[in-house]
Amino acid sequence: MDRQRIVDWLREERAEKLALLWREADETRQRHVGDEVHLRGLIEISNRCCRECHYCGLRAGNRGLRRYRMAEAEIMECVAQATAYGYGTVVMQSGEDEGITAEWMAGIIRRIRRETPLAVTLSLGERADDDLAAWREAGADRYLLRFETSNEELYERIHPRRGDGCSRIEILRRLAAMGYEIGSGVMVGIPGQTYEDLARDIELFRALDLDMIGVGPFIPHPGTPLGGAVERSVAPAGQQVPADELMTYKTIALARLLCPEANIPSTTALATLNLAEGRELGLSRGANVVMPNLTPVAYRADYEIYPAKACIRETAQQCQSCLSRRIVALGRKVGTDKGGRRRAVSPAAPIL
Ligand code: SAH
Repeated sequence: MDRQRIVDWLREERAEKLALLWREADETRQRHVGDEVHLRGLIEISNRCCRECHYCGLRAGNRGLRRYRMAEAEIMECVAQATAYGYGTVVMQSGEDEGITAEWMAGIIRRIRRETPLAVTLSLGERADDDLAAWREAGADRYLLRFETSNEELYERIHPRRGDGCSRIEILRRLAAMGYEIGSGVMVGIPGQTYEDLARDIELFRALDLDMIGVGPFIPHPGTPLGGAVERSVAPAGQQVPADELMTYKTIALARLLCPEANIPSTTALATLNLAEGRELGLSRGANVVMPNLTPVAYRADYEIYPAKACIRETAQQCQSCLSRRIVALGRKVGTDKGGRRRAVSPAAPIL
C-alpha cells in the first residue's frame, strides 16, 4: 500500500468502504496474531518529569499535580497482583524522572524476573544507553517509546530540547540492537499534524519493524501549551488530522495491515473518548492487546497525562474483571502466555 492509498483511507468517510477496512484489519489480526488478547498490567511508577512536552500533563511546568514516585515495595505489590490475575506482562511507565536511577530500576527488574513468570516492559522515556543496557541485562524484555510524529519540524515544535539532540527513532534502533522488543507509536490529531504526516508515521511503523504499536487520540490538557487556544495553530485548511475516535480506528486498522505481526493495544486514550465501547471497537479493528491499570488508586488521578482518563477510580481488581469480561463477550480469548512478538512462518497476505 503506497502513501497516497494510506492518505485515501485516512480521509475515507463512507461507512460501507470503512467496513471493508475494518474487516480486512480484523482478518489480518486473526490470521497473524490469533484470537488471544494479551493483558499487560500497567504500573505508573512515577509522575515526576523533567521534560516540557507541549501536550503532556506530566510536564515539569505543570504545577497542578501532586508528584509521586512509588516505592519498591509498592511496585512489588502491584507486580504480585499482575501474577495473581494471570497477566503475562507488567509495563512500568513514568515521566522522565531522573530520580529513577539505573541501579534502583535494575534491582526491581531483577526481582520481578526472579520472583514471577512475568515479562517486563519499560516505558520510562529517553534514557542514556548505559541505563537501557543495564535494564536489558537485568532482564527487561521490551521498551515502549513513542516517536509521537515523524514530522521533524512538528516534533521540534512540541518537544523543547534538553540539548543532547538524540532522536527517539535513534534510541528505538539502539534498543532493538540491545535485544529489546521495541514499541512505538503516535498521537492521532496533534495540532499541526497533516494526513500526509500520519500516513508517513504509519509507513515508519513498518520501516522500523516495530514489535508493538500504540496509537491513541491527542486529548488536550488545559495545563499544557497545547491545551488551550494559544498554540493550537493547526495545519492548513483541510490538512489537519482530527483527534477523534474514527481516525484512531483507521490508524489502528492501517497499522495492522502494514505490520501484521505487531502487538497493538486498544489504548486507554481511545477508551477515554468512548467509555462504552472504545476498547471493543479497537480490538475489532486490528488491536490484540489491552493494558489494565494496576497503579494504586491513591496515585492514579495524579498520573494525569490528559484529563478525564478512563478508569482512574477503578481498582486493579475491577479493571481485571471488566476487561476480561469485555474480551470474552467479543468472542476472543484472554491470553495466557507472555504474548511476545510472534514471527510469521508464512508470508504476509496481500493488503488492500
Ligand atoms: N515519559 C514516557 C511515557 C510518556 S506517557 C515517554 O516519554 O515515553 C505515554 C504516552 O502518552 C506518550 O508517549 C504520549 O504519546 C501519550 N500522551 C501524552 N500526552 C497526551 C495527551 N495530551 N493526549 C493523548 N496522549 C498523550
